[in-house]
Amino acid sequence: MTNGGYLHRTLLASSLAASICFWIGISPAHAQQSAPRDPAEPQQGRPHPKLLPRPTGAITRQSVEEKSMRALNDQLVSCGTRLSLSSWTDPKRGIGCGRDYIVARVNEIAKDSGGKLQIVVDKFDSTSERTSGKPLPLQSVYAILPGSDPKLAKTIFIVSGHYDSRPSDVMNTEADAPGADDDASGVSVSVESARLLSKAAANGKGANRATLLFAAISGEEQGLLGGYRLLDWAKQQGYTIAGMLDNDIVGDDPSPGAPHRVRLFSGNGEIEDCDSPGRELARAIEEIAGRQSIRMIFRVDRYGRGGDHYPFYKAGLPAVRFTEPLEDYNHQHQTPRTENGIEYGDFAKYLNSAFLGNVARDNAEALRQLAMAPAAPTNARLTGAVTPDAKVSWSAEDDPERAGFEILWRETTEARWQVYDFATSPGETVLHGVSTDNHFFAVRSVGKNGARSIAVPTEMERRPPPLPAGTKQ
Ligand SMILES: [Zn+2]
Repeated sequence: MTNGGYLHRTLLASSLAASICFWIGISPAHAQQSAPRDPAEPQQGRPHPKLLPRPTGAITRQSVEEKSMRALNDQLVSCGTRLSLSSWTDPKRGIGCGRDYIVARVNEIAKDSGGKLQIVVDKFDSTSERTSGKPLPLQSVYAILPGSDPKLAKTIFIVSGHYDSRPSDVMNTEADAPGADDDASGVSVSVESARLLSKAAANGKGANRATLLFAAISGEEQGLLGGYRLLDWAKQQGYTIAGMLDNDIVGDDPSPGAPHRVRLFSGNGEIEDCDSPGRELARAIEEIAGRQSIRMIFRVDRYGRGGDHYPFYKAGLPAVRFTEPLEDYNHQHQTPRTENGIEYGDFAKYLNSAFLGNVARDNAEALRQLAMAPAAPTNARLTGAVTPDAKVSWSAEDDPERAGFEILWRETTEARWQVYDFATSPGETVLHGVSTDNHFFAVRSVGKNGARSIAVPTEMERRPPPLPAGTKQ
C-alpha cells in the first residue's frame, strides 16, 4: 500500500463521514462525542429473550362513560357540602347525602355485573385535631370484586377517591363545599373503574385473579382518617395489599392543548440504591397506560399537601397518587365567593370530562392487568460483588398460570427498567459478564396471559470498607 493510497482512502472516509453527519444534521465533532465510551457489558453481548405480548382485551377509551362519571359528580356537588363533620342523616345536604349517591351508583353497577360486586359501607370512628380531638363517626364505601384465583384472592389492588369535601375553613359545617374536583372527580374514577372492571370480568375479557377494591373514602380532609382506616380494614380482612391507586384532584385540566397527561406521584421509600414499592407501581402503571398518558413525578406528593396513598406508602406498600397536570388553587379548598373579580370555589363547571375519562381508562386498564398477573416475586437479592458476574435470586410460590420471570436492569441514572433476560423458575440466575455495580436490578413475574407483576428491586447486603482504628462511624 502506498502512502498516497492511504491518504486517499482516509480523505474519502472522512468526507463520507462528514457528508453523513451533514445529512443527519450534526457535526463530526458532535458525532464523536455522542459515541458511547463505555465497554460493552456483557462483553459477549446481551441475551435477547422473546417477550410475551401484554394481555389482549384492553379497556378502550370509548368504553369509558364520561356521562355517568359526570352524573355522579353532579350528584355529589348537589349535596352542598360533604365535610366529614356535616350531617350523616340529612338526605339533601351533608356528607350522608354523598354516601347515599355513591351507594346507589355502585349498587346499580353491581346489578349489571351479575352480582359479583360486593358493597361494604364501613362505619368507624376516628379522632384528630380536625375533629376537635373527639371521636368522629365516619363511613367509607367499598365495592369489592373478588379475585377468581383461590391463591390470589387474598391479594388486593385498591383504587380510591375521597368523597368528603371542605370549604376554606376545614371546621365549618355550614359553608358550601362543592368539591367537584377535590375529590368527587377521584370518586367518579374509582366508581367508573368498578363498572369497567366488573364488566370485563363478567364478559371474560381478563378476569381479575387478585381481588379489586374500589373505594370512596371519607375523613380525608380531617387528616387522611379514611385512608388510615382502609389500611387497617384491609389488613383485618387478611388481605395482602399489592397496590393502592389514589385519585385525588383528577378532573380539571384548563391549560391550552388539553387533555394533558395526568401526574402520577410516587415516593422514594427508604431502600438504599433502589426504589420504593410505590415507585415500582408507578413504573408499572406508566408501562401499561403509556408515556403519552402518564407523567411520573418521583415525589411522594405535592409540597404542603397529603393524600390517602400516604398511610399505605408509610407502611412500605405500593401506593401512588394521580393528580391533574397543573392545579388551580382558586378552585380547591375554597369557600365559593367572588373577590376582586376572582371567582373562588370547586365547581363542576371547571372539570374537563375528556381528561377525567382518560384518567379513568388509565386506572382501569392498569388495575385490570395488575390483577391478572401472578404474584410479584419476593426476597429478590443481588450477590456477586467483586466478581465478574452479577447473580440475581428470588423466591416465588408455585403458580401454574405463570410463564416465568423477567430480570430487569437499568442504568443507575435511568428512570425506567428494561428487560435483560427471562427465567422460567425462581432461584438464582447468573448474569455472566455483568458487574453488580453499574446497573440496578429487579425481577417481576409474567403470566402466561402476558400480565406482569410490579417489579421487585434486588437488595444487596453492604459491607462498608474497614476504617482506621479509632475512627467513629
Ligand atoms: Zn383531596
